[in-house]
Amino acid sequence: MRLVRFLHDNKVCSGVLYGDEVTVTALDNGPGRVKFDKISLLAPVKPSKIVSVGLNYRDHAEELGMSIPTEPVIFIKPSTAVIGPGEMIVYPESSARVDYEAELGVVIKNRIRNVSVEEAGRNIAGYTCFNDVTARDLQRKDTQWSRAKSFDTFAPIGPWIETDIDPGNLRIRSYLNGELKQDSRTSEFIFGIPRLIEFISGIMTLLPGDVIATGTPSNIGPMNAGDEIVIEIEGIGRLTNYIKRKED
Ligand code: MG
Repeated sequence: MRLVRFLHDNKVCSGVLYGDEVTVTALDNGPGRVKFDKISLLAPVKPSKIVSVGLNYRDHAEELGMSIPTEPVIFIKPSTAVIGPGEMIVYPESSARVDYEAELGVVIKNRIRNVSVEEAGRNIAGYTCFNDVTARDLQRKDTQWSRAKSFDTFAPIGPWIETDIDPGNLRIRSYLNGELKQDSRTSEFIFGIPRLIEFISGIMTLLPGDVIATGTPSNIGPMNAGDEIVIEIEGIGRLTNYIKRKED
């Protein structure tokens, strides 16, 4: 199933996408079905937090000349950074280099704490595309990554949540202005999704809708105002966003 959130007649709705139609699952007195081309997609979840994994692809570790970590390095992106498909990533004035990072997003289903590897799967609602937008110059300058990772609009999510997919070996790509930039597979993960859920839920309570951003493969790179960035994951879809300099 593909779970969507969208605007229809200026109302926020949830639904399930089948072909070119959306069956609405949460809407007061609204239509039961709407055509996909009549709706405007929103980010498919409203996470209380996004827990991101710093280095989780073997090819990216090699690119950075870093050794393979023995446990995940994590950081938090705030809920206020979330944007949906088609929205603008705003380039902050304090940065001269803002990068895309194509990532598989894991959406948490239940309120969980101290979940084991064996129990992890039943606590996943589904998977989505995520762009861990990063002010690279600020990341290099700061010891802590909060500033570089947390600007408003730095967490594009979408286009929907795919509930029925095996995430173990999916092709993941990014395209900048149509040009292929990143191209890898989730089989390159250093830490698999069950291990990440065990590790993170051993630290903090995860709430329904929270997103784990599972790290990016090699060939990260910069974006500029006017660019189009697409994150594409096999079996899920394409998340498209645009870059602009300032809020107009
Ligand atoms: Mg990342």
